[in-house]
Amino acid sequence: MSVVDEIKTKLDIVDVVSEYVALRKSGRNYTGFCPFHPNVRTPAFVVFPDTQSWHCFGACGMGGDVFSFVMKQENMEFSEALQLLAKRAGVELAPRSPAETAEEKRKERLREINVAAAQYFHNLLLQSEEGARAREYLARRGIASETISAFQLGYALDAWEALKGHLVGRGYQAADILTAGLIIEREGGGYYDRFRGRLIFPIRDMRGQVIGFGGRVLDDGLPKYLNSPRTPLFDKSSVLYGIDLAKGAIRRENMAVIVEGYMDVLMAHQHGIANVVASMGTALTEAQLRLLKRLTKKFTLALDADAAGDQATLRGLAVARETLDRQIVPVPTPRGLISYEGRLDAEIRIITLPEGKDPDEVIRESSDGWNELVQAALPVVDYYFEAFTSDLDLTSAKGKSEAVRRLLPIIREITDSTEQTHYVQKLS
Ligand SMILES: [Zn+2]
Repeated sequence: MSVVDEIKTKLDIVDVVSEYVALRKSGRNYTGFCPFHPNVRTPAFVVFPDTQSWHCFGACGMGGDVFSFVMKQENMEFSEALQLLAKRAGVELAPRSPAETAEEKRKERLREINVAAAQYFHNLLLQSEEGARAREYLARRGIASETISAFQLGYALDAWEALKGHLVGRGYQAADILTAGLIIEREGGGYYDRFRGRLIFPIRDMRGQVIGFGGRVLDDGLPKYLNSPRTPLFDKSSVLYGIDLAKGAIRRENMAVIVEGYMDVLMAHQHGIANVVASMGTALTEAQLRLLKRLTKKFTLALDADAAGDQATLRGLAVARETLDRQIVPVPTPRGLISYEGRLDAEIRIITLPEGKDPDEVIRESSDGWNELVQAALPVVDYYFEAFTSDLDLTSAKGKSEAVRRLLPIIREITDSTEQTHYVQKLS
């Protein structure tokens, strides 16, 4: 028996869930209010002792076993949930090998280095003379001091060895600072700082730990944005900027809004729109969506309206469709049995931004205006319809047949037959 199975046989899911959710017995099962979406009227959250599983029949539609419940509830990775539940079940996990222990220690050192670097950059932004240019930039962009401290924004001096000197002075090894991605090796030996003369955005994981950095130039230098390289802690493609500060709101509102840039996230949160995260680049990845799926199944994409942004939106959509494919979830039939029904695993909408405007600008003008755009966001397929037919005359036979040619591949992907029929009719 695997450790996971052993833990499952020793724990009762009803006991574990009861620690977080008030459950009432209802026939063979237990019901309560779902902790993963806002609901107070009907207890749509069901725990099934027979199958040791849970499912929400309300807005979020999530479900799974005791592990997925703890992962969602505690915002944990699987390995962390395993530790917690193993302890609770009194199951010994295999002792870590020396290599694993060494790796864990190394990661811990990298985390410490990131914390020290973030603090160093932050102090420079707030206090240094040179940091004035970054302070002025933020003031010009309308970023408040509360936002600067909530996101621990920083400034990297325009110098070759400033951060390196600071960290080495605090006792960290150059080799570790290099692994953390903060310095770069010189060809002739020695190291220099990766981030120089830039506004710094510490990038934090779901639990608020600094795992990497983004840096923006304050002049016309290139690249405009520079991120940490891939490190043992940081992989840009599986991180969302702002997730640590957004996770509560995403859960409460049962919706995540995904934007492209750091500044969009800052401005949204500053205006109390806290369910916003950034993909930090142009393409939304599968790993990023999987991260968000722990919090909600409703995604709204607000990607920049310029041409590059349009391409990114379409690429993002392709990823979204691949990631959020069908999943089998238990659904009780009228006879009270559990059957299985395939259902689409998420709802994705697209915000159409006003031409040439970033979310940052829209929100700064009016948060009501932003909320209206979010409300008016189109379901993915509707968005495709508009995007792919905006240049066609749909009253003409020629325009119609071209629309069919462009849209049929998308309509074929729709798994819900009622929905599919709806769109086929729309085309005829
Ligand atoms: Zn729910």
